[in-house]
Amino acid sequence: DFKSRVTVVGSGNWGSVAAKLIASNALKLPSFHDEVRMWVFEEVLPNGEKLTDVINKTNENVKYLPGIKLGRNVVADPDLENAVKEANMLVFVTPHQFMGGICKKLKGKVTGEVEAISLVKGMEVKKEGPCMISSLISKELGINSCVLMGANIANEIAVEKFSEATVGYRESREIADTWVQLFSTPYFMVTPVHDVEGVELCGTLKNVVAIAAGFVDGLEMGNNTKAAIMRIGLREMRALSKLLFPSVKDSTFFESCGVADVITTCCKDCELSFCSLLSIVKVIVALLTITVGGRNRRVAEAFAQSGGKRSFDELEAEMLQGQKLQGVSTAREVYEVLNHCGWLEMFPLFSTVHQICTGRLKPEAIVHYRDHKA
Ligand code: NAD
Ligand code: 13P
Repeated sequence: DFKSRVTVVGSGNWGSVAAKLIASNALKLPSFHDEVRMWVFEEVLPNGEKLTDVINKTNENVKYLPGIKLGRNVVADPDLENAVKEANMLVFVTPHQFMGGICKKLKGKVTGEVEAISLVKGMEVKKEGPCMISSLISKELGINSCVLMGANIANEIAVEKFSEATVGYRESREIADTWVQLFSTPYFMVTPVHDVEGVELCGTLKNVVAIAAGFVDGLEMGNNTKAAIMRIGLREMRALSKLLFPSVKDSTFFESCGVADVITTCCKDCELSFCSLLSIVKVIVALLTITVGGRNRRVAEAFAQSGGKRSFDELEAEMLQGQKLQGVSTAREVYEVLNHCGWLEMFPLFSTVHQICTGRLKPEAIVHYRDHKA
């Protein structure tokens, strides 16, 4: 009988957790091969060892998800072409800025009946307009791509705290159900939604709202202001999504990918509470080595605390140690689209975030609107 083979393209913070979720299910589901390949963008660790070798030896991604076992059936592979060679199910999960290069490398190399899913939150802006990452995958590789987005802070899912997620699909409900099956666990509940653009735009645009929430925290403006920014942000997310893709559904914004992701990424680091001794040990390790809460919000908070004097690049390098922010580049990409289409005035929150990030406005400008009618 035919068994599906899965490769995860990416091995950062969320990529590693995605590999862990998939690996646990691949072992249980008879329609999947046990082995899950994970492509690693190779790097040499301070002790001189290669990250791939360490992952395969210890079964941990010591740089991007320390303290968490991925599952013995996860095999790290630094060779992109080799990693995808035999797979018929490809899971893309890298920071969005690297997806153009990855697709170029894979062009013509993915053959046969292959399905993809993108966990990447972001877009590319081309001359013709915005190109969502799932479309980039479809266009470059000639394969169908679903998306999976949601209120999914990776470090919380890594320690198996309950979360929900949304799979967005274009045509085949059957394929969406296969992805749902591959990702679902008792602590990770996945719902399919027939609105691939809506789901992907939710995941992408909420990162801009998270940056705005970080400014509010950095300026100590309080919860009412934060709630206002989240509400205005959600309205702008819906308005822009519908302008770009009129088929986008209102109901999508009530799924995990919509309002729930806005909430989780705009909230200040939540305090994790655990009962079992093992969990306490896990959390101590986690708190010592990895961060809790949304990264976009946290770095934007530090930016506002510095009065906009420190750059996002510098703060990202210092605070995230190799992990990447998506919100600042997404704010720029959104601004380009709004400017090109003559829509800047309709999206005061989105355009203000970009102008603060680039130093044209002070962080305080996050609450200076003339028009809230997105
Ligand atoms: P990350 O932020 O941990 O990024 C680091 C990864 O980028 C590493 O694997 C690194 O090797 C890789 N990288 C660095 N330079 C590269 C290059 N030149 N080419 C290719 N890869 C390179 O990554 P992540 O957290 O796995 O995020 C991936 C996507 O998932 C993003 O779009 C993010 O928004 C989304 N996401 C993240 C989370 C989360 O909590 N981390 C949750 C949901 C969605
Ligand atoms: P950050 O990139 O801000 O950490 O957000 C992660 C995320 O997308 C949670 O759903």
